[in-house]
Amino acid sequence: MPTAAPVTVLVADDSAVVRSLVRVELEDAGYVVVEAVDGAEALRMVAEHAPSVLLLDVEMPVLDGFATIVALKSDPATADLPVVFLTGRSDTGDVVEALRLGAHDYLRKPPETAELLARVSAAAEVTGLRRELRRRTEELDQQARTDHLTGLHNRRHLEEHLDALVTGARRHRHPFSVLLVDVDHFKRVNDTAGHDTGDRVLAGVSRRMAAVVRTEDVLGRWGGEEFLLLCPFTDLEGAVVLAERLRAAVAAEPVEGLAVTVSIGGSVLIRPGDDDRGALLRAADAHLYRAKGAGRDRCEVAVLPV
Ligand code: GH3
Ligand code: MG
Ligand code: MG
Ligand code: MG
Repeated sequence: MPTAAPVTVLVADDSAVVRSLVRVELEDAGYVVVEAVDGAEALRMVAEHAPSVLLLDVEMPVLDGFATIVALKSDPATADLPVVFLTGRSDTGDVVEALRLGAHDYLRKPPETAELLARVSAAAEVTGLRRELRRRTEELDQQARTDHLTGLHNRRHLEEHLDALVTGARRHRHPFSVLLVDVDHFKRVNDTAGHDTGDRVLAGVSRRMAAVVRTEDVLGRWGGEEFLLLCPFTDLEGAVVLAERLRAAVAAEPVEGLAVTVSIGGSVLIRPGDDDRGALLRAADAHLYRAKGAGRDRCEVAVLPV
């Protein structure tokens, strides 16, 4: 029996009589019912309504029940949808075939009310548990990719995206840049204001930077007082502008009452080679070192030598 959130059941049957009979009983029990008159329409309705359960007739025009379940099972997006076959025949061959093709359950037509509700409820529960499991998995995955001090992405997330973005840049031949940001004389902040203030400064610097990056850029904490910004579709000119915008956003006003600045080293990938990822990071690090040597609170960005 559905409780809080409404549960959608798709009834696919070419018989209007069967559809309306099933609809009335399911709606009385609190389900939301959508209908399809053949298998092809059922596939469209699954995509559109994401039902929790599909009640599927065997004999239908255009696409029959067997062909429909085969199509659903072959698509990862719909493979988990529990399918309850509505079979009009006494032939057990249909039932065996339906279960072989991955049906969750079956009902003989016309279904008896209590049995209909019991089987639909059991199938809906499977979907409910799967969705809950997916939600929790996504939540854990999100946590495993987040830096808890700053709320930014963590190194693991950055490394995975760096790989994916470099691969994409290589395939589609578009420019890609990375900016490595390091807080200047951060040791002094800890030494003079204390480690807790240091933590709050890192969080404050993160917020400043997050406020000025573009949505397609990936900003994360690389470690300690270092941050990495991954910038797809960004050439030298764009990277220089971005780096300067980040630097200025941090230096604009005190963070936690302290004057804080960052130095930034950037490298730009124009013609992708074999060791792009490592070369990009090494170059960004070298340019950061140069920015430090040149007096800090500045940016050094250059194209990766090819
Ligand atoms: P530079 O301008 O050359 O970068 O000087 P710096 O003092 O920032 O460089 P250094 O690498 O010597 O010091 C980094 C400091 O950052 C040392 C370390 O204790 C501190 N740090 C790293 N992670 C954290 C953190 O999570 N919280 C706090 N409060 N401090 C951290
Ligand atoms: Mg039929
Ligand atoms: Mg550092
Ligand atoms: Mg530093």
